[in-house]
Amino acid sequence: MADGRCMFCAIADGELPSTVVYEDDEVLAFRDIAPRAPVHVLVVPRRHLASVMDVADGEGPLLARIFAAIGEVARREGVADSGFRVVSNAGRNGGQTVAHLHFHVLGGRFMTWPPG
Ligand code: 5GP
Ligand code: ZN
Repeated sequence: MADGRCMFCAIADGELPSTVVYEDDEVLAFRDIAPRAPVHVLVVPRRHLASVMDVADGEGPLLARIFAAIGEVARREGVADSGFRVVSNAGRNGGQTVAHLHFHVLGGRFMTWPPG
């Protein structure tokens, strides 16, 4: 896909289908297509940023929106009290497979530590 536009951009724009859990004007949360836990939701900014390495000074308000959305997802998915994990994989060794900043929200079972 063209630089600066990717599969998650298409999902955020509604051009590709997804099961939306939460959305606002800046953030979209949708179910992972291959869930690794009973709750597995991806929280993404609608604006394309490739990874945490693209988060620059001035992105504070967007990050606050993302983390508020993560909390809302946890409440809606029923894991706010039982607990959950937030993960953002970055780059090759991080295991990132989609180059659009996203936060995995994983829960509904005990999350082992450390991750593999
Ligand atoms: P990463 O491996 O980059 O940390 O996470 C990418 C995630 O996106 C994976 O967990 C993968 O299952 C998920 N994924 C890949 N393609 C799609 C898709 O088309 N729809 C949805 N909902 N999730 C996807
Ligand atoms: Zn994108």
